[in-house]
Amino acid sequence: MKSQQDHPKHYSFEFYPPKGPKGNEALAEARLQLAQLGPDFFSVTFGAGGTTRSGTLDTVVDTMRATGISAAPHLSCIEGTRESIKEMVDSYRDAGVDRIVALRGDIPEGGEKLGVFSYASELVAFIRKEYGDRFHLEVGCYPEVHPETPDPQADLDNFVRKVDAGADSAMTQYFYNADAYFDFVDRATARGVNIPIVPGIMPFPAWPQIERFSAMCGADIPRWIATRMAAYHAKDDQQSVRDFGIELVTNLCTRLLDAGAPGLHFYALNRADPTAAIWRNLGLPANNAAKQAV
Ligand code: FAD
Repeated sequence: MKSQQDHPKHYSFEFYPPKGPKGNEALAEARLQLAQLGPDFFSVTFGAGGTTRSGTLDTVVDTMRATGISAAPHLSCIEGTRESIKEMVDSYRDAGVDRIVALRGDIPEGGEKLGVFSYASELVAFIRKEYGDRFHLEVGCYPEVHPETPDPQADLDNFVRKVDAGADSAMTQYFYNADAYFDFVDRATARGVNIPIVPGIMPFPAWPQIERFSAMCGADIPRWIATRMAAYHAKDDQQSVRDFGIELVTNLCTRLLDAGAPGLHFYALNRADPTAAIWRNLGLPANNAAKQAV
């Protein structure tokens, strides 16, 4: 973890583009509460859950306006031509965006290739070629291995390709096994990677939804955790689901930060709780950005 300890810590919260008036209201409320904590940036997902492309741009612009904090659009390249992707990146540049999360996106059912790029490394190389250093480029990585690539070595090779293509930093898929992150960082460091690898943190927003989602994206929920969550859920004890989740994720974050992780990226899912509770438990400053600036 030595290579990671030298990076300054960055904290971020991820949203998805809301749908309908209720969704807009919920995001506006969560955003104001989380902005009080002074994250370094927000990020906004792309295409996930059937949301539209313009939804990402609109949410990024609204978030920057409402909070004065920078926001990074996620951009997936599974669909589209060079021209359509460039058009989108142009619109982000024109909106004052300075950071992009460059991804491939999930292959739709049927598995046919839809766009000009097959992998995120190609998108990173394309943005670098067209825009130079205009954007800070984030990429995704998978301490527990991407579900399509059962060979950890091949998955690491892919991560190295994204770094070589010009990624500035990485955010991980979420995990509940800190050792998987430490092992991944050590293996990446041994391959010469020294960009920040920020752990992605998924608080337990609800059970069993998070169990189903984790099965799809390849995040392991240790049996002792799943068993306890299922028992609380069976008794309809939502308070214990929340409290146990907060305790677990606080302990995970403490371990990661103590070992030198260069910050945390919270999958906040358009709600302030339980992310804000975990933040407070960690003793992170109420206005992190302001304190760092002093
Ligand atoms: P890639 O890095 O391209 O990897 C995809 C797969 O291809 C991996 O299995 C990799 O090992 C393999 N691979 C890569 N290059 C090669 C090669 N040259 N030869 C052979 N195999 C190769 N999804 C969304 O739809 N919207 C979002 O907003 C979104 N946000 C995310 C944010 C984060 C932080 C993370 C970690 C994931 C996010 N995802 C999102 C999910 C992501 O799109 C999926 O996990 C997707 O399946 C892989 O994206 P990637 O950018 O990691 O792909």
